[in-house]
Amino acid sequence: MIIIKGDHDLRNYYIAGNWKMHKNREEARELARELVKGLENCGHTLMIAPPFTALTEVAAIVKGTNILLGAQNVSLAEQGAHTGEISPIMLKDCGVDVVIIGHSERRILYGETDDMINKKIKLALSHDLDVVFCVGETLDQREGGEAEGVVTAQVKKGLNGIDESDLRGITLAYEPVWAIGTGKTATPEDADAIHGVIRSLLGGLYAASIGDSMVIQYGGSVKPDNVQSLMSMENIDGALVGGASLKAETFIPIAKFDS
Ligand code: PEP
Repeated sequence: MIIIKGDHDLRNYYIAGNWKMHKNREEARELARELVKGLENCGHTLMIAPPFTALTEVAAIVKGTNILLGAQNVSLAEQGAHTGEISPIMLKDCGVDVVIIGHSERRILYGETDDMINKKIKLALSHDLDVVFCVGETLDQREGGEAEGVVTAQVKKGLNGIDESDLRGITLAYEPVWAIGTGKTATPEDADAIHGVIRSLLGGLYAASIGDSMVIQYGGSVKPDNVQSLMSMENIDGALVGGASLKAETFIPIAKFDS
């Protein structure tokens, strides 16, 4: 799971599907089987994140394939009296490789703060789980000209205290909140501009080469008909896909876009 490379041409595209709170176990098995078959020859880094209840069954299907298993959240705590939470130890036990942290639905609907997100990232990494770390501004923030400032603060706070050597396990995902599940996509140029801001920031927080070497996904209504134009941008290295990841007929062409 190497998500860090020496220059843009070597950064491997990373396409991830976030199934959110969809699919019972049978539906999850069926989709996972279709994806394993349809993506067998895909050279991009691939990940799917089913709901917790389907993790074990999907794990058995993707094991040994080119598809990583993701979880959609992880607890702040390692284990213990935390009713309703799922620990990183449990995720590892289910065969999980990667955890999505800081998704806007977790921030907005469930009150996750930058501080909580920072702790979750550290805890996940300490248990050898890779992380897809999501950031992004709301519509009001964008219209108020605050997009760069908001994303900068989220990245800084989320990575606070994280060593350069640990970035190897982290992928950033820029997901403008107003584009998630709305059918509105950021223009490739607008998305690329924020990705560029994140790269400059990373280059300042860490060694200059880090800005060029980290994989940064775009998320927000990525579909088969817009993936190519987004992925062709200099600073965009992949996609975090919600709605269109729920069907093989839409996720496969996105994952296999012509790079
Ligand atoms: C997401 O939830 O991360 C997402 C990008 O959703 P959608 O593709 O449906 O906009």
